[in-house]
Amino acid sequence: MPLVDSAILREPRVTVLSRPVFTEPSHLPVQWMGESTDGERLAEFAGRLCYMSQKNPANRDTRAYLGNIKKQGHGSVLEHANYSLLFEGVSRSLTHELVRHRAGFAYSQLSQRYVDESDAQFVMPPAIIGDSALEAAWISQMGSALDAYISLVDELMIRYAWVDDKVHRRKMAREAARGVLPNSTETKIVVTGNARAWRTMLELRSSEGAEMEIRRLAIAVMRVMQAEAPAFFDDFEVYQAEDRREAAKVTYHKV
Ligand SMILES: Cc1cc2nc3c(=O)[nH]c(=O)nc-3n(C[C@H](O)[C@H](O)[C@H](O)COP(=O)(O)OP(=O)(O)OC[C@H]3O[C@@H](n4cnc5c(N)ncnc54)[C@H](O)[C@@H]3O)c2cc1C
Repeated sequence: MPLVDSAILREPRVTVLSRPVFTEPSHLPVQWMGESTDGERLAEFAGRLCYMSQKNPANRDTRAYLGNIKKQGHGSVLEHANYSLLFEGVSRSLTHELVRHRAGFAYSQLSQRYVDESDAQFVMPPAIIGDSALEAAWISQMGSALDAYISLVDELMIRYAWVDDKVHRRKMAREAARGVLPNSTETKIVVTGNARAWRTMLELRSSEGAEMEIRRLAIAVMRVMQAEAPAFFDDFEVYQAEDRREAAKVTYHKV
């Protein structure tokens, strides 16, 4: 069956699920200066505790203080602030790369063993978007793969009809049938990471050497996080790369 247009995704969706809530201890007040978010204050509080510099002798506002932390490479201070993001409209090949980022990250991803993929959506690789012949060829291949998946699930449900537990039988069918689903199959994933871990991931995946879909996601995440907590991410700068796609570079490498 031909794929309906709504089954084809051309952009990721990034949603912030959680951010830090900072509660200042009344017995260790900090002389705060400037605007900041809870995550940034938490990191400043943690950094100042090391030297008991709550009186802020250098009169630094939070963003200048954290700018100096990044410059000095004291990245462990940034590990206190955790952010959870939901990614949708990303492919299984993207998440296969994403989950390689281990330190400071937690992941929960949609299960293709439990979830029926008969209505799966597919993420068009950015390199294909805009070329009608390539788009048509790709869409037709996705449609064939989906048809093969649906038939295999039906056939496997019959093959394993003797398994009484229907949930288990469905799982057996889906886990085998998913083998014919392509890398472009859409998935959803919740990713929690601390600000240091997000910085490292963004540096690697927004660079020109990164694969285009994950690079596009990294740029989107970077923009979300720059609005969320500028002091952690304001040294990332987006530019137009030679391949006419956005890439980003960072001032303070892997703090
Ligand atoms: C452009 C690009 C191409 C890639 N191509 C391939 C490929 O072809 N094949 C492939 O398999 N992978 C590939 N990767 C994935 C890459 O090898 C890393 O797995 C991925 O970038 C995560 O990096 P990381 O291990 O530094 O991250 P994390 O696991 O998040 O680690 C962050 C940092 O923590 C420290 N750390 C984490 N774990 C340990 C440990 N066990 N011991 C010591 N220090 C540790 C290191 O300093 C590390 O840099 C590619 C990545 C990129 C960006």
